[in-house]
Parts: sequence; structure tokens; C-alpha cells
Amino acid sequence: MSQRTAQIVLRDVNKLYPGHPPLHVLKDVNLKIYPGEFVAIVGPSGSGKTTMLSIMGTLDQPTTGEVWIDGVNAAQISEVDRAMLRSDVVGFVFQQFFLLPALTAVDNVAEGMLYQRIRRSERRQRAFEALEMVGLSPRAQHKPGELSGGEQQRVAIARAIAGQPQVLFADEPTGALDQATGHMIVDYLRAIANQGTTVIVITHDQTLANRFDRKISFLDGEIVADKRRRSAGRPGVRKAARPGPARQPRRPDATTIMPPDLVEAL
Ligand code: ADP
Ligand code: MG
Repeated sequence: MSQRTAQIVLRDVNKLYPGHPPLHVLKDVNLKIYPGEFVAIVGPSGSGKTTMLSIMGTLDQPTTGEVWIDGVNAAQISEVDRAMLRSDVVGFVFQQFFLLPALTAVDNVAEGMLYQRIRRSERRQRAFEALEMVGLSPRAQHKPGELSGGEQQRVAIARAIAGQPQVLFADEPTGALDQATGHMIVDYLRAIANQGTTVIVITHDQTLANRFDRKISFLDGEIVADKRRRSAGRPGVRKAARPGPARQPRRPDATTIMPPDLVEAL
């Protein structure tokens, strides 16, 4: 009997922002994401998508409920360990590209690995490989001001994947781009997922969302639909290994024991 283990688990997650009355932004959200999934999150503005993504990526913490990443309860490790988890295990892409204007594309990508204790020469090597993944090798020595919006977003994606995260989060990565460019970005995200990285993307665009293997719909702080495409294949089964040097991800010592429902018999 084979088993699959969820990579990210949200259990009864609630998020309230203080106020009179408090703003209840996430309401008992339960969710499991499996390794290598290619997931879109859709929903109207203000429905809690960014809040949920931030909590999944440990940038933010729930008011109540649990977040498990790779078998580690994010609430039960120190802030230092959470920062380590973020730099080693997850990558982020945002609607604004947040590139440094004075640096070339390759230096922007290499910069993203500064906190990963990777030698400078290897940072550059990985930066070039990541740019190649998004078809930007020929533009590696250009600065952001010399690149189109779509190219700048591809640099931002390269920066997020260069550290070889297990999970890539993207919050409206195509929001500032025209639709054709948005489709191209989704093509690259799909290629990244095909190499085994879990990819979770917030988008407003239903046409784009329909290209993902799984679509989670949000409304007013709740998941109202969660659909997998039939052709999507079995989640939790890693596809081809990522090329490049093998890397053993460091992670905090799991002093917590994974609850049995994170592991499911198939
Ligand atoms: P979405 O990404 O779906 O547009 P968000 O998660 O950004 O939604 O926001 C959900 C709700 O929470 C919104 O009403 C927003 O104004 C509110 N909100 C987000 N961040 C904060 C915060 N730091 N303090 C107070 N309210 C917030
Ligand atoms: Mg948002």
C-alpha cells in the first residue's frame, strides 16, 4: 500500500484582525497541499487569498489553528527556525517584481540566495540556471529597466526558484501583465511544477486558473470549491527530479510529531 504525505496542511485556520468589530478574514480553513501540485487560488478581492498564502508561507501566523509544512508545526518552532524554513523551503513571487534597479538580472537572482549560506560562485551558477529555466539566459546581463514587464516577472520567478525551494508561492504574478504574457508566465510556472516543485498561485484570471491542475475558490474567508482536473495525475507523486546539484534541504528539527492525518493511505 502506498502512502502520500501532505506537504502543507492548514487545520481549522482562523485569522482575525483587531477592530470594532474584529475583521474575521479566514474562517476555519482546512486545506492539504501535496508535493508537486500545481494549484490556483481564485476569489474576489478582499476574500482572504493573500492572507492565506502568507500564512501557508509562514510570513504571517493564524489567530487560531495549525499550519504544518513538511511535517513541522510552524507555530512550534522559533522565529529563527521559521526564517530558515522560509529561506530554504519556500520561494515567493509577487505582483510587483521587487527587482533592484541597479543590478543586472543575474545579480538580482543571485541576491535572492544571500541568506542561504551558498558560496558566491555557486550562487551565480544557480542564478544562470534559474534564468535559463525561464528562457532568459540571453537577457542575464540586462538591468530591470531594460526588460519588459513579462521579462522582469520571469527574473522574479528565477530569483524565487534559484534557491531550489520545495514550494513556490505566487500572489497575482500576472496581475500587472497583459493576458498573452500572463499565459507565458503560467507556462513557466507549469514547467517548474513539472520538475517537482509545488506551485501555488493566486490569480484573478479564470482563464489562467483553469490551466492549473487544481483550483481552490475563495469567498469571504472560506474555501467554497476545491476541484482537481481529472487529467491532473495523482498528487503527491514527485515527477522528474530537478536537474542540478543534489541538495539536502536543511530544516528545523521536528520536535513535534506529525499528526496521523497528514499521512494518508491510498
Ligand atoms: P485578497 O488577497 O483576497 O484580496 P486579503 O487577504 O489581502 O484579500 O485581505 C482580506 C481582508 O483582510 C481585506 O478586507 C483586507 O482589507 C483585510 N486585511 C488584510 N491585511 C490586513 C491587516 N494587516 N490589518 C487589517 N486588515 C487587513
Ligand atoms: Mg491579495
